[in-house]
Amino acid sequence: MDLKKIVNKGINDLSPYEPGKPIEDLERELGIKNAVKLASNENPVGPSPRVLQSIENILKNTHRYPDGNATKLKEVIGRKFSVKPNQVTIGNGSNDIIEFIARSFLGTDDSAIYSEHAFAVYPLVVKAVGAEGIEVPAKNFSHDLDAMLDSIKSNTKIIFIANPNNPTGSFIGRAEILKFLDKVPEDIIVLLDQAYFDYSSFEDSDVDFDILNNYPNLVMSRSFSKAYGLAGFRIGYSVSSEDIANYLNRVRQPFNANSLALFAAEQAIEDEEFMNKCLQLNLEQKKVLYKGLESLGFHCLPSKGNFISFDCKEDSTGLFNRLLSQGVIVRTLGVYKMPNFLRVSVGLPEENLIFLEKLQLTMS
Ligand SMILES: *Cc1c(COP(=O)(O)O)cnc(C)c1O
Repeated sequence: MDLKKIVNKGINDLSPYEPGKPIEDLERELGIKNAVKLASNENPVGPSPRVLQSIENILKNTHRYPDGNATKLKEVIGRKFSVKPNQVTIGNGSNDIIEFIARSFLGTDDSAIYSEHAFAVYPLVVKAVGAEGIEVPAKNFSHDLDAMLDSIKSNTKIIFIANPNNPTGSFIGRAEILKFLDKVPEDIIVLLDQAYFDYSSFEDSDVDFDILNNYPNLVMSRSFSKAYGLAGFRIGYSVSSEDIANYLNRVRQPFNANSLALFAAEQAIEDEEFMNKCLQLNLEQKKVLYKGLESLGFHCLPSKGNFISFDCKEDSTGLFNRLLSQGVIVRTLGVYKMPNFLRVSVGLPEENLIFLEKLQLTMS
């Protein structure tokens, strides 16, 4: 049997998403116990203590299905951001949302637009449904919004924008986003992926959910995996018009978000004090990393997220492997067509120091 002949159109050309190397794997391989993982843009501090304090109460009810409508979490999000609970769609991570959008709006005769060097999940979901992906060249490692508008075809259904973008860290401010949205035809869905919103809005003026009133074709997604420190729970959401949310909910698997994740998100979103501490720490430590990397001669891309991509001026695989052998996990960016770059996530102060120290060591 030739699987190639029976697999769905589009799937043959895909490769599985490559996650950052798990810390346990490296520790086993090297026989060490203190590996440092700065590879997946997680919050290095951990989940909010509010989550940890009370999650045991939920554990004893895990023989029951979760609330399939996520009523409580949608209410909490609605109250927090002044949107209607019916505008909220809950995902098993915000990656789930990205897939709902592709499955709801893209068919095999359609196309979707994303930027070069943009988040790897966009081409993945587009190709998985057999649609055409239009990759628009980046400008200075940032989305070229005008070129993206120019590449709209008659069969274009979705435009993906990651703001800030991962892995480049590029960020487009409020005024420019609004100007772009004004020019997008109303029958094209725009996904504004704000997985790093908490970081960007801490440093700059970003767009909030209030703009949704003016753009019925806009979906804004956010994640609990990054600043909220809940990556392992897998929980994210989008806010859109109620009509779009209604469609996204049709393709959503029942019980896609588990009880522990729903509870953790409800708690984490209320812990503003913890969030502010984490955002402050990220800002300070990002400066430490910039300074250290630049003093070692690396050119760094400006980042509004919790990570920095830097240019190694040659294929970065060698440096990546030397860091690995020193117990430090960062990320290569070959799949993003940035083979000379490495991406490092902002860690705890001691982790960042170890990273810079080992980096210097591998260079001397
Ligand atoms: C990490 C990330 C996401 C989604 O992460 P989830 O864990 O699925 O919520 C989405 N978009 C970008 C740009 C990311 O970097």
